[in-house]
Amino acid sequence: MQARILVVEDEAAIRRGLCDVLAYHGHEPVPVATGTDGLREALTGRYDLLILDVMLPGVDGLTICEQARQAHPRQAILMLTARGGESDVLEGFRRGADDYVPKPFSVAQVVARVEALLRRAGVSERFEVAGLPVDATRLSAGDTPTVELTRRDVELLAYLARTPGRPVSRDELLREVWGYAITRGVETRCVDMHIAKLRKKLATVTRREIVETVRGAGYRVPG
Ligand code: CA
Repeated sequence: MQARILVVEDEAAIRRGLCDVLAYHGHEPVPVATGTDGLREALTGRYDLLILDVMLPGVDGLTICEQARQAHPRQAILMLTARGGESDVLEGFRRGADDYVPKPFSVAQVVARVEALLRRAGVSERFEVAGLPVDATRLSAGDTPTVELTRRDVELLAYLARTPGRPVSRDELLREVWGYAITRGVETRCVDMHIAKLRKKLATVTRREIVETVRGAGYRVPG
């Protein structure tokens, strides 16, 4: 099921980046650049999830959060907070936010938080990699039969599937999927081992090689 997600963020590059990745994951993001528009949209209650920046022109994100929470007690709300903005985090929770992501964030971080919130809100999330259906809610791949995956497996597949046909380096995977800030040579082996295990699982539901090795470049999914 597709989730309708309101993205209230005044920085155009971040707003566009968020919307692209949410759309990629099969959702329907609705971008809004000001707090005033954000508040009006949030109060309609037509969204499965609100993603709110704190500092916004017009009405700030914390106020939107509070009013949306009052109007719709079950609304899922994710705040984007500035680095070191502990007071924003606490204030966000006090005003009814479900979770937060500190800026600067990686795509994998945001996707993981969004998935977790939608899961809690009862919205399921599916996507396809090279024709293979992946269910990020149930953590499984394939139709019948299905195979169980780990959360990291799903995040890895989701990341590779964003750019089919493009080899992604082990360093990039460590950074974006594992969340390592700095990568060292020795850690790239953990990517190889993880992918070897993932391939074994996927081989039980598809004959096609879903994660291909590109010598000297990394891994990719077929385009
Ligand atoms: Ca801002």
